[in-house]
Amino acid sequence: MRITLLGTGSPIPDSRRAGPSTLVTADGVTALIDCGRGVLMRLVAAGTLPPFLNALLITHLHIDHISDLGDVITTRWVMSPGPSPFVIYGPVGTAEVVRLTLASLNADVGYRVAHHADLHQGPAVEVREVAAGDTFTVGSAQVTVGWTDHRPVEPTIAFRFEVGGKSAVLGGDGVPCAGLDELCRGADAYVQTVIREDLVRLVPSARLQDILDYHSTVQQAAQTATTARVGTLVLTHYVPAIQPGQEDEWRALAAAHFAGPIVLGDDLTFVDL
Ligand SMILES: [Zn+2]
Ligand SMILES: [Zn+2]
Repeated sequence: MRITLLGTGSPIPDSRRAGPSTLVTADGVTALIDCGRGVLMRLVAAGTLPPFLNALLITHLHIDHISDLGDVITTRWVMSPGPSPFVIYGPVGTAEVVRLTLASLNADVGYRVAHHADLHQGPAVEVREVAAGDTFTVGSAQVTVGWTDHRPVEPTIAFRFEVGGKSAVLGGDGVPCAGLDELCRGADAYVQTVIREDLVRLVPSARLQDILDYHSTVQQAAQTATTARVGTLVLTHYVPAIQPGQEDEWRALAAAHFAGPIVLGDDLTFVDL
């Protein structure tokens, strides 16, 4: 299994970092988890194309995690040589967001169906709203859903992939909680979105300070990794963005709480399990 950090950015626009999105690939599975700003640019850089996606999994409906939903749906549809249903998994509320996104695409779909003789219908999208404890398959992977704590944003979920004898948890946004601990237990890898509390506190913006109560710090992510005895900790969604040369500083903060390998870096950083 390969985990590729397609976008390591956050809601804050960054010229070097795409919005939150992670790719899980293995023999028989190509799955996208969240689809933030610029995701398809990074997807092709990672060596795949939208038609090869088995599914999109959404952790929650914050816009930084779903901003390019319309692009993913449209481009996968137009680039697929024939009908190719696309399954989107997400928490309660996902169906409504997808419905409204599809509605916003009506004009574009109309243009393309009228223009291309071999295109007879719009994108075939199937939404499956899931909750903690649900399981499903994506290609060759078995996926389990866990709950996360990103309140007041609710519901929010995380996904555990099992394929080829390896396991990885995509934690999404949130603070440590029992649901995440349980989902992560013994996983080979745990991907967590993180913030640096010490740096965020330096910014005199009440609106930015508000994010401190619903995101894991680097240290908290490392503590979860230790509690759950995961193999490798993967950090992403850096707030503020890691500046060139700061990687070791971030890694050291995590290493104080977790003894295993710690992976972080620029967009397209990947880890093989
Ligand atoms: Zn969020
Ligand atoms: Zn986020």
